[in-house]
This record gives sequence, C-alpha cells and structure tokens, in this order.
Amino acid sequence: MAVVVTGPDAKPVGSRRCMFELKEYTRPFTCRVCTVNSYDTVRYRCDHCDECRHVSCIRLDEEIRVGPGPRDIFAMLPVFTLYEKPQAGINSKNKKWAEYCLVCGMLIKHYSYHIRTTEKKDLNMHPRCAELIRVNNRVAVPLELHMGERWSCVWCGNKRPEGASPAGPTDFYCWSYEMTGGKNRIHVRCYSEMMTQALNSIADSHYYNDDDTIRIVLRRRKSTDGTGWEGILKGAFDIALEVAGLGLTQILVDLI
Ligand SMILES: [Zn+2]
Ligand SMILES: [Zn+2]
Ligand SMILES: [Zn+2]
Ligand SMILES: [Zn+2]
Repeated sequence: MAVVVTGPDAKPVGSRRCMFELKEYTRPFTCRVCTVNSYDTVRYRCDHCDECRHVSCIRLDEEIRVGPGPRDIFAMLPVFTLYEKPQAGINSKNKKWAEYCLVCGMLIKHYSYHIRTTEKKDLNMHPRCAELIRVNNRVAVPLELHMGERWSCVWCGNKRPEGASPAGPTDFYCWSYEMTGGKNRIHVRCYSEMMTQALNSIADSHYYNDDDTIRIVLRRRKSTDGTGWEGILKGAFDIALEVAGLGLTQILVDLI
C-alpha cells in the first residue's frame, strides 16, 4: 500500500514526491515525525529519501480525542491539537518541562499533540505516545498504563528515565507500564529501549546463527539484582515480542 505525502514535510526531490510504502522490517527505526527511536516493525518507508514513519504518523490528524487515561487524567480534556513543535504559552505554569512528552518524558523535537489545562499547564505528547491513549488507536498497548513515580523501573532502576526533565511533576509525568504481579513497573521509554535492543539483537543473530536459536542480548541500565529476570522482566518481554508480532520459538535471552 503506497501513500503519497504532500504538504511541508513531503520534501519533494525534483519533481518527485515522497512515496511511502507500508512494509515489515526487522530493525528499529527513527520516525521522521516523532523523531524518537521506535520498535514498530510494520511501518511506512520512502525509498528515495530513506525516511520512515509510524503507521499512526503517516498522516496526522489536526485534532485527536483521547480516552480518560490513567486515573482519568484526561476525562475533562479529551481533545488534543496538533502543532509542528511542542507548545508553551508566555504565561505557562510549567515552562520548565512543557516541551517534554508527558508520556515518555523525552524532549519533543518536532510534531506534538497539545492541550492546555485549566491551571495553565501546557501538556505535550509525541504523536506516537499520544496514540497509546487515543480513542480508536491504531497501535497495540502492551500493558496497562500508569502514572506516578512511586516505584523504581525494572529497566533503569530509577524513578524517571534518563533524559527526562528533572522539573516534571512526580505524580503525572513519565508514565510506565504495570508488569506481572502489579508492583513492578517499566517506563514507557524504557520499554521502548528494551524492544529496540531486542530487535537489533534478533536482526544481528541471523548473520551468525546456524541453528534456530536466536540469542537476544538486553543491556539494562540497572545491573541485575536479587529480584531476577524470570519473575519480572521475562513476563513483559514475552508480551512485548507477541505485540511486536515476533513469533519466535527458540530464544535465549542474556540479561546484562
Ligand atoms: Zn521521500
Ligand atoms: Zn511517529
Ligand atoms: Zn513521548
Ligand atoms: Zn525506566
């Protein structure tokens, strides 16, 4: 399925317009619209400009309606508006962290879905992150989403992922997924890092493996502790592989 993209971002070369094709790939990629690394294996790619976009980013809607979100945070503010850059007004109450994505915590460099709260806080989200809570979303949400930094993440071991703004509020910035057992969490950002590593590892293993076993190397930001791989991360990783559409039978996971 090919899509011709027009508008300021189409970057025509000569008389040729971008032609994005929907295909399945094995490597992670950086979406031209979100500018974040991503693990979605099915995506749009334009061969002549060598750029990729998420399925949900090939054409961004001017407005999106989101679900209530964790703890019904958006029950009263369900409609976000698209901008070419994250928005923060002159009298913004959260200027220090407004340009960071509410969901993954990372700085937004390009398109953003924005809303202003009644307390004059400017909330911005990457298009792909907004998709996680969008009504009728086009992406899979692997695990239940949570807010609040009460627990450390099983991937980074910290309350918020590296690169997140230290100024963001602890109660509703840097969301995470709830893992098996309920107590443990993995940041949305860290989940993405885990899957990016896994895809690279899987793609590399085809070059040197004769048997059918695929060796996946995961390098956590936190060194392995007593809680162990089996009970915690493994459960999330199995779900992650399934969500990514990777039906792998023989895998060997090395956790570093
Ligand atoms: Zn192109
Ligand atoms: Zn994207
Ligand atoms: Zn984000
Ligand atoms: Zn983390």
